[in-house]
Amino acid sequence: MTPPQETVYRLHNLDCADCAKKFENMVKKIPGVVNAQVYFSSAKLKVVGNVGIQALREVGSFENIEVFPEGTSEGLKHDSGSRFDRVAAVASGAALLIGWMIHLVGFPWENLFFLAAIVIGGFKTFRKGFNNAFKLHFDMSVLMSVAVLGAVLIGEWTEGATVAFLFAVSGLLESYTADKARHSLRTLMDMTPKVATLIEKTGEREIPIDEVQVDDEVLVKPGERIPIDGIVLEGHTDVNQAPITGESVPVSKGIGSEVFAGTINQTGAIKVRVTKENSESTLAKIIQLVDEAQNKKVTVQSFIDRFSYYYTPVVIALAALIILIPPLFFGQVWHEWIYRGLALLVVACPCALVITTPVVIVSAIANAAKNGVLIKGGIHLERLGEVNVAAFDKTGTLTKGLPYVYRVVTYQGNSDDVLTLAGSVERFSEHPLGDAILREAKRRNLKTKPVRNFLALPGKGAHGEVNGDVIKVGNKMMFPQSLPTRVQNDLMRQEEEGNTVVMVGKDNDIFGLIVLTDEIRKESLSVIRSLKKMGIKRTVMLTGDSPAAAGAIAQKIGVDTVLAGMLPQEKVTKIQKLKNSRSVVMMVGDGINDAPALAAADVSIAMGVAGTDAALEAADIALMADDLGKLPFAVELSRQSIKVIKQNIGFALGIKVLALLAVFPGWLTLWVAIMADMGANVLVTLNGMRLVRYKRRLPEKMPEVACTCSST
Ligand code: ADP
Ligand code: MG
Repeated sequence: MTPPQETVYRLHNLDCADCAKKFENMVKKIPGVVNAQVYFSSAKLKVVGNVGIQALREVGSFENIEVFPEGTSEGLKHDSGSRFDRVAAVASGAALLIGWMIHLVGFPWENLFFLAAIVIGGFKTFRKGFNNAFKLHFDMSVLMSVAVLGAVLIGEWTEGATVAFLFAVSGLLESYTADKARHSLRTLMDMTPKVATLIEKTGEREIPIDEVQVDDEVLVKPGERIPIDGIVLEGHTDVNQAPITGESVPVSKGIGSEVFAGTINQTGAIKVRVTKENSESTLAKIIQLVDEAQNKKVTVQSFIDRFSYYYTPVVIALAALIILIPPLFFGQVWHEWIYRGLALLVVACPCALVITTPVVIVSAIANAAKNGVLIKGGIHLERLGEVNVAAFDKTGTLTKGLPYVYRVVTYQGNSDDVLTLAGSVERFSEHPLGDAILREAKRRNLKTKPVRNFLALPGKGAHGEVNGDVIKVGNKMMFPQSLPTRVQNDLMRQEEEGNTVVMVGKDNDIFGLIVLTDEIRKESLSVIRSLKKMGIKRTVMLTGDSPAAAGAIAQKIGVDTVLAGMLPQEKVTKIQKLKNSRSVVMMVGDGINDAPALAAADVSIAMGVAGTDAALEAADIALMADDLGKLPFAVELSRQSIKVIKQNIGFALGIKVLALLAVFPGWLTLWVAIMADMGANVLVTLNGMRLVRYKRRLPEKMPEVACTCSST
């Protein structure tokens, strides 16, 4: 047997999130299919298993969903169905109008035009309804077909025709709005160039983007979009990275800089060595993650799913009772109560209720993505809106994470000796402090010595053998015995200024202190303030650095609680402790060495992740740019989304209740029922789509105090 394959298809006429789910479930039931997933916003189907396209097409036919192989021109062309739908709606409306006019002047044959309006406007619905009724699947199309047919049978031609026409219009509106919501994602996809200019020995040649391979060299001229992720080999330029980071301020790039697919090369021509294939690019990852985001549902959705499961059958049963009981037991007129029952059928669909949440989520997530905030699921969006405790990693998150050596204090030998020893050990470390020490040693042209048995101790430091001595570089935990008073005093003084101090020594002998400083990000202060203003009740800073250094920084930026001297594992337990019934905790970090603490939080946020796939994968929400300033925007957007979802659900439920109540006194005519339904759909969708345009308020201007600490 052949192993199951993964195939991606493009879908047309995928108009509602509800049908997407239904289609997915039906595909899963096809023999040979191991798993299937429908991506509503990008209109794609991913199938794992051995199944032919014909089987998928058959399953799709129930909702007029068309299936095309991904990547073919056939699959890319615009929906063919929508033109037909428009013509049908217009023709049906015209027939309805003529029917009315004939009725007014008292001419015969009016019903002929009403019949035409019904057949033209309702054709698709009837076909679908007929199919579904046979499968005992009572969805909107079945209800509508019964309502129209019923109206005709009791002689209400005008009503039947109006319902058919309005339903055709509502179908159009629905596919239009679904398309709009989807559009925001499509703009992301359109940012990937289709071709790249490959540089070969024989010259330059344009090739399709999917044929570009790792280590190929491509040429990017000014004004062009960079086609692929890579490293600049030659030239320098300014690049607008807004498609990835949401920041349109150009970033300057020179030899060795990383560039991303989809970003715009502005000023110079550059030669780029490709580091990732097209399907692996950062932009491709963003698109994929945004697309998958809708599958992580928000909690209200499961409520709605359960509600709809019972609602429709209950209302159908109610309609049956309304039709039967008054005429049978209370001598009422049949015609009257059949009509009321039919009207009730029209409101039996929980449509507005079902479509609202996905529209809101897709709109909000697409908006966030455009602003460089990648939210990887509705559930994370929801959680982020509820956050009331914000925990931050210090290094690289609240500070720039690019420490530099600012002073060396010596007790044995001179500062060059201390830096040589420390630099030799740190050559093998991957810690930013190690990098900084090595950089300083290089700057002073010091020659590092060979090192044996290097060992990094996370949260503490590192050691290694230099000339037979075990040299230790790190904090107090590396030097367990009590330190000489002089060292203790120096240490204290430096740390109280917010500096990080690394001790260098052997056994318990301290040769010297390397004082490093890491600039506070300029936006840290305003971000903490904005969060507090938004009602986040507690801000926490977690760090492996010393309490004195951490405290000094926390005070400058206004963080409430400092948890210092923490080993990575202790950060995890602290986060778990912060979480309780009243607290929803978000953890913000760089996503690489903070991964465990991030995973322990209710919502994890990694920042500056463009280019680092591990960080992108580790977090629930990723800030693509190295800019903490996007955080308040993300929280606000999330809160707004939850508010809109609640508004919409309240509104949709309210309309249904009103409609149900209006049935009994006979106020609910068929066309009022369908107008109410259509109106509710359109209103909740428009309300949800507001989030596409939801703007980030500009950060307040802050005094520059936050930066001064670096120059101490
Ligand atoms: P943070 O929580 O700020 O990211 P880490 O847990 O990475 O900090 O490190 C905590 C502390 O451990 C540092 O402040 C430093 O004192 C010490 N340390 C860790 N690794 C090293 C190293 N390679 N060289 C020197 N000191 C180190
Ligand atoms: Mg760290």
